Amino acid sequence: MSDNYAAYNIIIVGLGPVGAIMAKLLANFNLTILILEKTREINSSPRAIHFDGEVMRVFQNAGLAAHIKKVARSTHKGMHFLGENNETLLIRKGVEGVGEQGWENNWYFFQPDLEKVLRESLKRHPNITIRLGENVTNLRNVESKTQVVTETDLNKGKMYYEGDWIIGCDGAKSLVSKSMSSKIEDLGLDEKWLVIDLIVNKDSLKAASLPDYTIQHCNPKRPMTRCYINSSRRRWEIMVLPDDNIEEVTNAKFIWSILKPWLSPRDAVIERAQIYTFHSIIKTEWRSSHMILAGDSAHQSPPFLGQGLCAGIRDASSLAWRLGWVIEGKVNKNIIDSYVQERKSHVREFIDLAVSCGKTIKSGDPKLITNYFKLENIEQKNAFDFPKPQLGSGIWMEGDPPLGQISPQFFDEVHALSDYNALYKLILFERLALKENLFGKSLQIVKNWDIAILRANKAVEKWFDCMNVNATLVRPDRYIYGMANDLEGVVDMLDCFQRAMNGKKD
Ligand SMILES: Cc1cc2nc3c(=O)[nH]c(=O)nc-3n(C[C@H](O)[C@H](O)[C@H](O)COP(=O)(O)OP(=O)(O)OC[C@H]3O[C@@H](n4cnc5c(N)ncnc54)[C@H](O)[C@@H]3O)c2cc1C
Repeated sequence: MSDNYAAYNIIIVGLGPVGAIMAKLLANFNLTILILEKTREINSSPRAIHFDGEVMRVFQNAGLAAHIKKVARSTHKGMHFLGENNETLLIRKGVEGVGEQGWENNWYFFQPDLEKVLRESLKRHPNITIRLGENVTNLRNVESKTQVVTETDLNKGKMYYEGDWIIGCDGAKSLVSKSMSSKIEDLGLDEKWLVIDLIVNKDSLKAASLPDYTIQHCNPKRPMTRCYINSSRRRWEIMVLPDDNIEEVTNAKFIWSILKPWLSPRDAVIERAQIYTFHSIIKTEWRSSHMILAGDSAHQSPPFLGQGLCAGIRDASSLAWRLGWVIEGKVNKNIIDSYVQERKSHVREFIDLAVSCGKTIKSGDPKLITNYFKLENIEQKNAFDFPKPQLGSGIWMEGDPPLGQISPQFFDEVHALSDYNALYKLILFERLALKENLFGKSLQIVKNWDIAILRANKAVEKWFDCMNVNATLVRPDRYIYGMANDLEGVVDMLDCFQRAMNGKKD
């Protein structure tokens, strides 16, 4: 290996949150990973502040739940929708306590704090190399490999790398995506919003009296969102109007004039204010030979549901086990296409929902708001849960939900969560005494794929009863592969899984 050349199994371009969790999930496979990141510091722009219970479960499966809990707070406080005259149109309650995913449904955090935790966690893995300050300038597929050229920020010297696979986690302006195709599908939202992060003064009574939940100002004259990040941080997202002077909206004078009803410069410091163009897009190509996209490089959502990063984390959880097994030689590389098919249609549902949420907020029309949340009337106070779309066609026994949906997580008798039995591995929940009854080929499949067989406890039995089944195979990313009623059905399901892993469809 020369000084300016090195080869790895996987090269991840971009060490944002998606690149980091991708590397973390891949690290336990038998492979080498290089991460190339053009900046040295973590991005400090005001971006994600919310993730959901499913994403917390991905962190759990990556062995990070305890670390993430230190920088994120859970809440069930929900969201209040106010009209033009600050009248309450709707209170969208959050789900109280632990939700279906085994974690609270809503978590708030400051993105740079989260990214710091993710980066720190990568240092524990000798098979991960991180090169900061290296801008990827060129990349291409060459036969069964990919070649990458970078320019270092220190002396502008060039480095050359070769990878079996490249994962483009390089964000909205992705070079990896551009090198595949420039086609995008636009889902209909493209508008400028001013995003302001404030550090509140601890002695300020005004700041202390701000609500500890999110408020949507559905005021067509100035649509706006106010968020409570944590006890010291607040976020305002304000729509930029056609008459606004773009040069002036990030000025302190303009910002304080908007914030005047709630805060003055005595109450808080503007940490950052930035104009973003919110997009709603999905790239048409997510894979070209040995290059694959994940996160904002593949899709972008307006932040009205706090789901853009969540989708990227789901991408990582969906891709890492497939790619890990491809590189370990267990499965054919064609299964990577199933990642693209499954994730594309799943993310579309969330982006569509975020776009219509944005339109509803802007309209200020109470009827639209009740319709959006499928309520009979404005007084009805339903708790809101995120949708659970089925995956697009891929590695699961296609059929009606809950097949292809995210599975619930269960507590055992000592209050431990079921995923801890087999982090980021397959789990077969059952009440058919499978440990005693599985033989021959089926048992071999269980061994080959390191499937953890978990005997149903009361909580799992209740789930089984609702679905009228006696066994369920759950994938490492916790989506439901298949269900069975009896031993014969389990044998078929395992057989079907084995065939899918061989790249064969029924
Ligand atoms: C105002 C706002 C609010 C948001 N709120 C939420 C929210 O509440 N919840 C939520 O889920 N999502 C939210 N999002 C979306 C979320 O911030 C993004 O989806 C997320 O940051 C995407 O992560 P990523 O890792 O894919 O990309 P990025 O975070 O953009 O990381 C990409 C990385 O790649 C690096 N890179 C790029 N090009 C190269 C190159 N050529 N060579 C080397 N490195 C390169 C970049 O430097 C960067 O570090 C919000 C976004 C905005 C703008």
